[in-house]
Amino acid sequence: MKRLIIVALVAIGISISSAPNVQALEGPLSGKTIVIDPGHQLGNGSREFADEINATKFNGAIVKGCNTTGTATNAGFPEATLNWKIAKQLRSMLESQGATVVLTRDSNSRSKWGPCVWDRAGIANAAKADAMISIHADGGPSGGRGFFVIEPVRIKGWTDDVIEVDKRLAADMIAGMKAAGAPPSTYIAGQRMVSREQSTLNFSNVPTVIVEVGNMRNKKDAALMMTSAGQRHYATWLLAGVDRFFK
Ligand SMILES: [Zn+2]
Repeated sequence: MKRLIIVALVAIGISISSAPNVQALEGPLSGKTIVIDPGHQLGNGSREFADEINATKFNGAIVKGCNTTGTATNAGFPEATLNWKIAKQLRSMLESQGATVVLTRDSNSRSKWGPCVWDRAGIANAAKADAMISIHADGGPSGGRGFFVIEPVRIKGWTDDVIEVDKRLAADMIAGMKAAGAPPSTYIAGQRMVSREQSTLNFSNVPTVIVEVGNMRNKKDAALMMTSAGQRHYATWLLAGVDRFFK
């Protein structure tokens, strides 16, 4: 009997030490916690979740809803799915550099909704994240393409605790993504939009940026967005921005 127990313990010990992903990998992002926020959710447009999605909260500037359906390509490829696919690729890239990664939703499903934007920020706050990257795609004028970032303005009691780092994160995302080859927005000057009204930014107490990775209504951007190779490019470009921020 004693011998059997010892054998069992040895077996458990071996299985623990040889299991992958038990400990974060060593790398340039070791010790960093990064929250990736894949914007929207496929079920947000579903009538059965209308009450949840239409809930509102004051965000420091205006009263705004829980979440929205997001945009889509002309062929109907949804933004929620694009954001989700890029987020998953980015997660594994960040983890392979040693980061601990938290996603704000764990599925991409027509039978799920949310979470609300204020809860997404809450997830980053609870995780005491070193950075939060909120992934979105724009539904802009079809003649324009490329990525841009959205950063907050100073609002007392809301963003004033973190705005200086938010600005540095936004600038590093722009510079890093451009240097890595991401097509820059042709319709947002300097690839930088400043907004008072983004709940994700205003509710967050950690360095946060929204990245509109491209324009879903533009033919060239849409073609890139709908292939897995293209989605991988977007993840690689975002990674370059994150790496620049932590350097
Ligand atoms: Zn969006």
